[in-house]
Amino acid sequence: MEESKKKLVMILVIVVCLGVAGAVFFGGGGGGGTIDDISDEEMTWVICMNKSCNATSEMSLKEYFKFVTANANPMAPTAPALTCEKCGEPSIYKAEKCQNAACGNVFRSGAVPNDFPDRCPKCKQSATEEIRNARKREMSGG
Ligand SMILES: [Zn+2]
Ligand SMILES: [Zn+2]
Repeated sequence: MEESKKKLVMILVIVVCLGVAGAVFFGGGGGGGTIDDISDEEMTWVICMNKSCNATSEMSLKEYFKFVTANANPMAPTAPALTCEKCGEPSIYKAEKCQNAACGNVFRSGAVPNDFPDRCPKCKQSATEEIRNARKREMSGG
């Protein structure tokens, strides 16, 4: 009886260790996963850069990346544009929705050059920066 209990504990320890290692591998790497790692539930905002259209909508992040990898031009520095359902122009790009509840602006990723891609050009808030600042505060606050 005792031996089998010991074995069970050892198995549990191994399972927990593997779980932690997995969490570190997937969570700490900062990206590097494949498209199939993206949940079907995950959505992204997209925006039509056609000035007379400016349509914004949400689409599956997985579908977006599938399109980009299938249509990417290795010579072009920017991601390929999707065709807009509204105006029919190939001018749909990945967008961010401002996390500032009072603002809620939808804008193209990287609208503010040399800054966080989710920096809102309207209210100047960046969710990435907010998270980083919160982490800094946590670290210094102990
Ligand atoms: Zn459009
Ligand atoms: Zn904003």
